[in-house]
Amino acid sequence: MNTDSPVETRILLIEDEEGLVMTLTDRLRNEGYTVESAQDGENGLARACAEPFDLIILDVMLPRKSGFEVCRKLRYAGIEVPVLMLTARSQVVDKVVGLQIGADDYLTKPFDMMELLARLEALRRRAPRAAAKATSVYQFGAVHVDFRGAAVARAGQPVVLTAREYQLLRYLIEHRGEILSRERLLADVWGYEAMPSTRTVDVHMAWLRQKLEANPRFPEFILTVRGLGYKFAG
Ligand code: CA
Repeated sequence: MNTDSPVETRILLIEDEEGLVMTLTDRLRNEGYTVESAQDGENGLARACAEPFDLIILDVMLPRKSGFEVCRKLRYAGIEVPVLMLTARSQVVDKVVGLQIGADDYLTKPFDMMELLARLEALRRRAPRAAAKATSVYQFGAVHVDFRGAAVARAGQPVVLTAREYQLLRYLIEHRGEILSRERLLADVWGYEAMPSTRTVDVHMAWLRQKLEANPRFPEFILTVRGLGYKFAG
C-alpha cells in the first residue's frame, strides 16, 4: 500500500474458507490494512451494516447467505463501500450478475495475491462514487444509465453492455471532464488482470462508442485526446 493516505484502511473479509481467511488476513495486514473477517453471509452483512469499512472482499459461495444476497442488501441499505467479489472459475455468469447488483469488481479464484492487492488499491484510490452516489441515474445525450440496476438505454432502447464495458462507462462518468490516460484506465478499470495492453482500452472504447454514440466515427461524448488518452464529455 502506498503512503499517500495516513488514515487506516479497514477491510472486511467475508469468506468461509479458513485457510484463505488466514492467508489473506496475514498478507493484507502486512500491506498495512486493518482486516476484520466474517465467515458466513449473515454475519458479514451484519458487520458491514454495523461498522464503517473502506473495502469489502466478498466471496460468492457462502453459508447462510450468498455473496450476491449480501451485496444486494448492502446496496439497498445505502451502503456504498467498494465491494470486490470472489467467484469460482466455473461461475463466469456470476461476474455479470455481481456487477449488476452493485459489486465494484470481481476476481476469479484461484487468484494471484499481487492481482488482489492491485485491485484493492485501485478500488481504494477510486474517487468516491460521486456520480453514482448523488443520484442513481445519469443521463447524457440520448443515453440513460441506471446505476442501481446497471441498466443502460439509448433513446429508450435497452443497450446490452458486457460487464467490462459497463465498468468502463461508469468510470468515465465518475471521472467526466478529466483526461484519462490508457495506463490509468487499465490500472483502475482492468486492474492487474492478465496485464492487457493499452490496445484493449481502445477496443473497448470503440465498442462503447458503437453502442452509445449517435455517430461512432464522430463521437460527441467519448472523446479521444490526441497523445494523452480519453475524455468523457457527457
Ligand atoms: Ca466460499
